[in-house]
Amino acid sequence: MKPIESTGLALLDLRCPRCHQGKLFSHPAYSTKFAEMPAHCPVCNVAYEPEPGFYWGAMFVSYGFSVAIFAFSGVLCYYLLNDPAVWVYVLTVAVIVLATTPLVLRYSRALMLYLFGGITYDPRLNEPASRNLNSFANRSDTN
Ligand SMILES: [Zn+2]
Repeated sequence: MKPIESTGLALLDLRCPRCHQGKLFSHPAYSTKFAEMPAHCPVCNVAYEPEPGFYWGAMFVSYGFSVAIFAFSGVLCYYLLNDPAVWVYVLTVAVIVLATTPLVLRYSRALMLYLFGGITYDPRLNEPASRNLNSFANRSDTN
């Protein structure tokens, strides 16, 4: 898997915070195992759970995401459906919240790991000997 240099883009793609290559989740977002994470990164072997119960803190991040989604879908409902009945608000917000639950859980955990996991990006992990040879070959092509 090709490494991502930017930490923000690696977070958006749910990659390992250390090598930016390994996936944080082993199954697709919309499957029954959407919350399963491997214990270690398959590429650099860093532990994805720095301490037991680490992801309890992700609940607070998830709460923030949920409030934002509630507010956004309520405002969207108000303007797109021209202030409908209350049951339409409840149904719309419930459907949107249920549909985004796997993404909210994943990004909450990823943010928790990136911000409080104490793991920093190590670009040296993404420079195997073959890649150095490739950059050398590209340089010689231009001359
Ligand atoms: Zn890794």
